[in-house]
Amino acid sequence: MEDKLLRVDMTNLSVVEEPFPDDWRYLGGRALSARILLEGQDPACDPLGAEALLVLAPGILSGSMAPTSGRISIGAKSPLTGRIKEANSGGQAGQHLMRLGYRALIVRGKPTDPDQRWVLEIGEEGVHLIEKSELKGMRNYPAAEALLQGKDKRASTVICGPAGEMGLTGATIALTDMDHRYPTRHAARGGLGAVMGSKGLKAITIDPGRAKFRRPAREQAFKTLFQTFAKEYRAGKQPLKNGTATVVPVANMLSTLPTRNRRAMQYDKHEGLDGAKILANYETRGGKQHGCMSGCIVQCSNIINDPDGHYITSALEFETLGMLGSNCDIGDLDVVARLDRLCDDLGLDTIETGGAIAVAMEAGALSFGDAGAMIELLDKEIEAATPLGQAVGNGVVATCEAYGAMNRVPAIGGQGIPAWEPRTLPVTAITYATSAMGADHTAGLVTRTKNPDAAQASQFAQVVNMVCDSSGFCQFQILRLEDLRQFYNAIFGVDWDGAEIYHHGFAALQDEWEFNRRAGFTLDDSDLPDWMREEKVPSNDAVYQATRDVLERVFTENYDDSALKIRASG
Ligand code: SF4
Repeated sequence: MEDKLLRVDMTNLSVVEEPFPDDWRYLGGRALSARILLEGQDPACDPLGAEALLVLAPGILSGSMAPTSGRISIGAKSPLTGRIKEANSGGQAGQHLMRLGYRALIVRGKPTDPDQRWVLEIGEEGVHLIEKSELKGMRNYPAAEALLQGKDKRASTVICGPAGEMGLTGATIALTDMDHRYPTRHAARGGLGAVMGSKGLKAITIDPGRAKFRRPAREQAFKTLFQTFAKEYRAGKQPLKNGTATVVPVANMLSTLPTRNRRAMQYDKHEGLDGAKILANYETRGGKQHGCMSGCIVQCSNIINDPDGHYITSALEFETLGMLGSNCDIGDLDVVARLDRLCDDLGLDTIETGGAIAVAMEAGALSFGDAGAMIELLDKEIEAATPLGQAVGNGVVATCEAYGAMNRVPAIGGQGIPAWEPRTLPVTAITYATSAMGADHTAGLVTRTKNPDAAQASQFAQVVNMVCDSSGFCQFQILRLEDLRQFYNAIFGVDWDGAEIYHHGFAALQDEWEFNRRAGFTLDDSDLPDWMREEKVPSNDAVYQATRDVLERVFTENYDDSALKIRASG
């Protein structure tokens, strides 16, 4: 099957299919999204205007037989930060689009009637834009059910929730998981849901029908590679098989568990948030570990039931436990599960939302630890657009502005800081400062390194995560750059050496940095806020200390063969 590109124009409601450009043949996922955004729009444009693009680009291995490799990148100019943004997600959309031959989907324009809602239906028999304005304002769980009703059980959907329809800059784009019902996977960060909402595009449904796995250029080499890889993984330690929620005690020990608006990084009630409880509860409540997409051999995603065995949420991760839990002084995993469910239903980023609520708590708008007020806020005030709901829905910086807390903004590059704490983790701090996307732990988290050159350590991490997010592999598969190189060679039929795969990743980072430069950002915008140089983490006295010289060195390619041993995801 020939590779294709799908262009959707929401102004004139047209859908055009084109051959995939040969110039982009080695680009997928995040790298492809960056190139499309850089070449296809003015980076200085209004991110919610008609000219702005929304890109869906599956990784290059999505739709293939490689394990844990079906992820998708969703990219746009972020309405939260004004910078380029890519958010990577599991779910079935990446697998399905690639099996149907779609290497990318590019959406531009906006309908003249702001009350119209449209659904893009993609299947073996063609692609159609259908007006479904009756879905306007519908939350993600009921919307997923309505969108998939009557469709083949393999079908999946990508949805803009109410937060995105309202243009809130903390809004996500939700994707259904392997169970085909639950919109629990999210392209979560950067307010991408608001971009989708601005286009009147409520959802995309994809029915892969009987579309087959994608075939690599070197079939036997590819088969041997993925079989060996899967066997070695299963025989190894499998560090994330119980999910990131089980990281809570370690994060607390390391002083990277944000507590009460990051005033501390160790939490006295952290045991109440330990993901080990989720595993223990499976026996009495039901629930299980599962894969969010077909072919996942890690299965880090949890399904969480209440004490009566009723489903609450799934994919409750460390970041959510840190940001909606300890950072808001909530030490009860079941409460965080309910807050997570509300965020999934509204289409809100749990990291940005937890950071914003903690700011509002410190300002006195609600009290730390008040679970009832948090549930009320998410369940009622977001859609009612109260002043507090608007502030929190628009993220950390907007909440600091609304409550006069601009002297201590827990955001970097306009994006709320994730749970992983940059003062405690100095190389991660450099990543947050220099990443085109600001405070993003998936851009190059480094929890420990033997590399004495912090700038190079951050660059290595950013390159391997870029290649991983472009490949379709999940970062939780924890591949080395060398593993990714071998998969690229087998799928494309090339013989890239270490320097070439590294350069491939670095060039994509340069595309992202160039987008930001054209959007008006300079090197001076690549740093952490001053308060992080002054306010010590109480449990380890850490402050942010990176110098301008160190930060600037990240932007110059600095490869050596040790980069091939670096793994994605810290
Ligand atoms: S490892 Fe977890 S996040 Fe990654 S694809 Fe599997 S279930 Fe999804």
